[in-house]
Amino acid sequence: MKVAKRIESIPPYLFAEIDKLKAKARAAGIDVIDLGIGDPDQPTPDHIIEALYQAAKNPANHRYPPYEGTQELKAAIARWYKERHNVDLDPETEVLVLIGSKEGIAHIFLAYVDPGDITLVTDPGYPVYRVGTLLAGGIPEAVPLLPENGYLPDFQNIPPDMARKAKLMFLNYPNNPTAATATPEFFAEAVTFAREHDLIICHDAAYLETTFDGYQAPSFLAAPGAKEVGIEFHSLSKPYNMTGWRVGFAVGNWDILAALSIVKTNVDSGVFNAVQEAAVAALTGPQDLITRQNNIYAARRDAIIDGLNSLGWNLEKTRGTFYVWAPVPRGYDSKGFAAALLEKAGVNVTPGVGYGQNGEGYFRIALTVTEDRMREAVKRIRRNFPDLKF
Ligand SMILES: *Cc1c(COP(=O)(O)O)cnc(C)c1O
Repeated sequence: MKVAKRIESIPPYLFAEIDKLKAKARAAGIDVIDLGIGDPDQPTPDHIIEALYQAAKNPANHRYPPYEGTQELKAAIARWYKERHNVDLDPETEVLVLIGSKEGIAHIFLAYVDPGDITLVTDPGYPVYRVGTLLAGGIPEAVPLLPENGYLPDFQNIPPDMARKAKLMFLNYPNNPTAATATPEFFAEAVTFAREHDLIICHDAAYLETTFDGYQAPSFLAAPGAKEVGIEFHSLSKPYNMTGWRVGFAVGNWDILAALSIVKTNVDSGVFNAVQEAAVAALTGPQDLITRQNNIYAARRDAIIDGLNSLGWNLEKTRGTFYVWAPVPRGYDSKGFAAALLEKAGVNVTPGVGYGQNGEGYFRIALTVTEDRMREAVKRIRRNFPDLKF
């Protein structure tokens, strides 16, 4: 049977080749240092696991959960948001619980994109924005993120015709894969742009809490007027080491959340109540564990950035996300360099082109292995690539 055109429209999985090389290297007995995984290596804190355990024993939690999330979790989200980002949210209409933020990000396109409609997706970017558009039959238009603009989109350079036709635009700061951060002024500009062209802004805030050296990343919703034009996607995955638990949330404009909720009530039946109780424990429990976790990433960041700079790179210290985005040395493209690193040094990184055409010429490192392994990776690169040029 021929698959639907929407499936055919999805580009081949760009990391498949690298995955094969990684499996081959491991089979050959090579101790691969995997800097490719965007998944926290530390366990979920105990008090969150304990809350799940207790909640799982309550038979009331074994039944279908409420579609939009439990009252307790929605209230905890609104309080957490006020405390951390000083934004007021009505827990009943401006908060929607998601099965991980990826679920909501993928579904928002079904709520707003008709076949042939345009979306604006940053390039490089998290692949779901593009593929979510394609699954809805839409046309993702790449908005380049360039180093000379600090990896922020240049709103003046987006063709007005394209902007007028676009239904929605995705932003993501602190940014995966570039680790770039945005200012409150930038978000204010985004609100103006959305108003001018009548489009929705979706801000993916997966790394809003993953910041270093005292830096606090601004929430998009804190920009004046943001709630009139957009929503923000949050995840418990990265700040609380909960990627496997599948719980996140969207907050902001209630019309947009209501439209997303219509898709969701017809596709899924919400998050297991016990996981929602655990999410309440995460949001209302001690928050200093986020800082402690971030300090671990910052030390790893220092190890890899200082190490690579000693080999000829010229990388600046990042302020957020657990990624480092680095140019490939002269003479390589991004897939070629990733393959060479794996074959010669047993170090796995992600080729930048996997995040879009503008990712060509770069690779991404994830700070999800120990400092020692980071240093070992640098040592192996030094040994096996004696004359890198930039
Ligand atoms: C990890 C990640 C997500 C998805 O997080 P979940 O809440 O686990 O689905 C979304 N956006 C970006 C940019 C991410 O890196």
